[in-house]
Amino acid sequence: MPAQTSLFLCLKDNFGVLLHDPQSGATAAIDAPEAAPIEAALAKTGWKLTDILVTHHHADHTQGIGPLKDHHHCRVVAPRHEAKRIAHVDETVGEGDTVRVGLLEGRVIDTPGHTAGHISYFFPADKVAFVGDTLFSIGCGRVIEGDPEMMWKSLLKLRALPDDTRFYCGHEYTDANIRFAKTVEPGNKALAARANEVAGLIAAHKFTIPATIGAEKAANPFFRADDAELAKSLGLAGSPAWKVFAEIRERKNRF
Ligand SMILES: [Zn+2]
Repeated sequence: MPAQTSLFLCLKDNFGVLLHDPQSGATAAIDAPEAAPIEAALAKTGWKLTDILVTHHHADHTQGIGPLKDHHHCRVVAPRHEAKRIAHVDETVGEGDTVRVGLLEGRVIDTPGHTAGHISYFFPADKVAFVGDTLFSIGCGRVIEGDPEMMWKSLLKLRALPDDTRFYCGHEYTDANIRFAKTVEPGNKALAARANEVAGLIAAHKFTIPATIGAEKAANPFFRADDAELAKSLGLAGSPAWKVFAEIRERKNRF
């Protein structure tokens, strides 16, 4: 049976998301930005929280873990290289490990750069990925603990997932990301189409994710740093892709 998801906002612009296995009844929260909206989503769906899958140690992804674990006695799975910085961890995982949520099987992908031990979770049977603050729709996370080359390699791993993979990210930043992306690739038609789509979603008070990996390849400049035309337009023809990525990221930091 296909997995089900529930998406909602936490804090100011964090996404909370639940992943539910209808066959076993198991339900995972991907990160725990804030306990109350997660509890509300559980009450609304009638799902019982069995697991929390953590992507990275930042407080806006972990501060709900304590109260949720107290209430639901759920298992907490966290990145191996950041487990010391996250409270209440039961199990640590890294690249290639399998994480089960009931009968759903996810694969762990190390995606360092935003933080040094950041991980993402990919569920191949349902083609759904949870990418935390590594990839955003039409954007990517700030490179805080890693370096640009590391972050670019992490983005390449996510870009290699099947085109029809739907991904859930940690923040609703799409609209602001589009405004920036248009300054980098003003002539990108896929980006213009995504901008129209997002304007419609926002007008209808809907979320702009999940997006697909295939659509991001065409429109997200951070996925396109190895595009020769893009490199040339930035004055970086012939530079390694990670240097082009670093330039785009630096421009976004200043935007
Ligand atoms: Zn973060």
